[in-house]
Amino acid sequence: SQPILQIENLKTWLASGKANVRAVDGVSFAIGRNETFALLGESGCGKSMTALSIMRLLPDAGRIQSGSINLEGQDLLALPEVAMRTVRGKRISMIFQEPMTSLNPVMSIGKQIEESLFCHTSLRGKAARNRVLELLRAVGIPDETQRYGEYPFQMSGGMKQRVMIAMALAGEPDLLIADEPTTALDVTIQAQVLDLLRELQQQRNMSILLITHDLGVVSEMAHQVAVMYAGEIVELAPKSQFFSSPFHPYSRKLFASLPGREKREQSLAIIKGSVPPLTQEFVGCRFASRCDYAWELCHSTSPEWTVLGNGHSVRCHLAEKANAGEERPPIIQP
Ligand code: SF4
Ligand code: MG
Repeated sequence: SQPILQIENLKTWLASGKANVRAVDGVSFAIGRNETFALLGESGCGKSMTALSIMRLLPDAGRIQSGSINLEGQDLLALPEVAMRTVRGKRISMIFQEPMTSLNPVMSIGKQIEESLFCHTSLRGKAARNRVLELLRAVGIPDETQRYGEYPFQMSGGMKQRVMIAMALAGEPDLLIADEPTTALDVTIQAQVLDLLRELQQQRNMSILLITHDLGVVSEMAHQVAVMYAGEIVELAPKSQFFSSPFHPYSRKLFASLPGREKREQSLAIIKGSVPPLTQEFVGCRFASRCDYAWELCHSTSPEWTVLGNGHSVRCHLAEKANAGEERPPIIQP
């Protein structure tokens, strides 16, 4: 089927003093209808900047250099801001990691959801109020008539995230972008919120772009997985393919570094080395300084995409060798 969203060669830079940080550096992917597409990677690899580029809600220093972001045949980057405002909320909504900071502390949660309805629908008065109660039920908030008048400080973190989800659903979006939606929540609540997102997706035929650093979340939620590293996507695969045979050395390190479920939040932090600075053009592979398999070619030439089959592609010279039936060269440690 036609994808709901198609991104081609997106480049988003952030001005930082005299330099430009190439936060998103040539990213392409497509999200299918009713599909959950996971963008996986360490913090600082460009996941959130990709999401904010789609919403065109970049920080002041951010600028989209090139590329296209196509929502069902419409290039969002070519839309005037006023038209983009009707896309936000109505076609694409976004929820964030920290529901606390996104909610207004001095307005009841019912009124806040109602404001979203005023923005994105023509519902007013009693019809709007009824819709709010319906949304509260839909996101699993019990005693909705009483909850309507409560304030954010009266709610737990999980409940607040449910309120944020209700606000995001107010305009009945086709695509929900969820940026680390459960990272701030404890494990039990995290599982409940993920269940809710899955349920809502099925009921509402919604696509989800899920941004996460957590392999567990990917395994529970995703249909497709894209691994992002230093501003670009390095591996793209259907979920089952990704979990049964991850190819890219970075992807494999993500699995190898899994310390067990209870310490999962820290899992990606223990890969040795750090993401290289993104202020200049890369000559070789971006992962070369941390890769156990790097050889000369990796330092001199940036790898192109290699198709491994079944919608599974990877950017790594090892894949080119494997596809050509060649031996892997000897490992040279830097
Ligand atoms: Fe490692 Fe080379 Fe593959 Fe990059 S291209 S991930 S350095 S083997
Ligand atoms: Mg982020």
